[in-house]
Amino acid sequence: MPHWAALAETGIDMNKLDAAFKAFVESAPVLCLAADRDFITIYVNPFYEHVHNVTLEQAVGKHIKDIIGEEGFQDNLEYYNQALEGNIVVRDGSFNKLDGSIHHYKATYAPIYDGKQVVGITGVVLDTTSEVEMVKTNKQLEKTKSELKTLVALDPLTNLYNRRYFSGISKTTFNTSKRNKSELSFVILDIDHFKQVNDTYGHDVGDQVLIKLSKLLSTSLRKSDVLCRYGGEEFLIMLPDTNVERACLISDKIRQRINELSIKPTEKQKFNFTVSFGVSSINCEQDNSVESVICRADKALYKAKEGGRNRVEFIV
Ligand code: GH3
Ligand code: MG
Ligand code: MG
Repeated sequence: MPHWAALAETGIDMNKLDAAFKAFVESAPVLCLAADRDFITIYVNPFYEHVHNVTLEQAVGKHIKDIIGEEGFQDNLEYYNQALEGNIVVRDGSFNKLDGSIHHYKATYAPIYDGKQVVGITGVVLDTTSEVEMVKTNKQLEKTKSELKTLVALDPLTNLYNRRYFSGISKTTFNTSKRNKSELSFVILDIDHFKQVNDTYGHDVGDQVLIKLSKLLSTSLRKSDVLCRYGGEEFLIMLPDTNVERACLISDKIRQRINELSIKPTEKQKFNFTVSFGVSSINCEQDNSVESVICRADKALYKAKEGGRNRVEFIV
């Protein structure tokens, strides 16, 4: 026995109940429709009229597909048929309405009985278009936000992290290393006589040197290391879990790889360049900020320049 039929047995006035049911569908902020077995519309409620831009008078007697369009009808047909077989069906769907706009919805289709015969179906359809669109817009916004974040963090020429981003991540890593008393090293490197490269071959060739060096550096480091373009022709590397000896070894290997890197501005031209390195590591007892470690690395770099360039120096 249908749920509501049990009400009749309670002695409730069925006329009053009918009036209440009518008031429900007429005022419900969901689309309500009823159609016969041939999908000819019997009833649509005011909310349905509003969403599908049709009046009750226009809708009654019309095939469902002439109201919502062939696409919407086909999208639902399988579920209408399940309702005609006596099932209550819940589904999420979407289709383009006749006016071209997208309609997202959650629908419940149910059989209409005359005795034991299913004579048609009802549909109660929740319009979820604005919700779905909102979720989509939010996803797009999140994507744009993360793209912007990446853009803000990267140096446009070399695609390496910029100083701003490095500053944030190095502070966090410094604090963690200090707390955990773990090793942490910094390497500053600066191209030797880079001004001469620009003066001799031009600024564009200078840019190519910066790009090639960036690639070499990126491919020489571990995933956990952080590399940034610190300034014009200066780069800074943060090496977590690395002591000063190991940082010097890594730096010297990179220095040798750079020595083997040739730049060919034209078919006939070819030159090599060198880089100086300054290394320092965290002293958990004495260092209170990441800047103090980077400052020592910078002094070590100065030592390397003073000492003749193309070399690695460290200060602990
Ligand atoms: P040192 O060995 O003492 O470091 O000498 P240097 O010539 O490398 O140093 P200096 O500071 O005198 O010159 C750095 C040059 O780097 C000057 C500047 O024009 C150049 N430079 C900075 N940024 C860029 C860039 O993005 N592209 C190019 N092509 N050159 C740059
Ligand atoms: Mg330089
Ligand atoms: Mg410099």
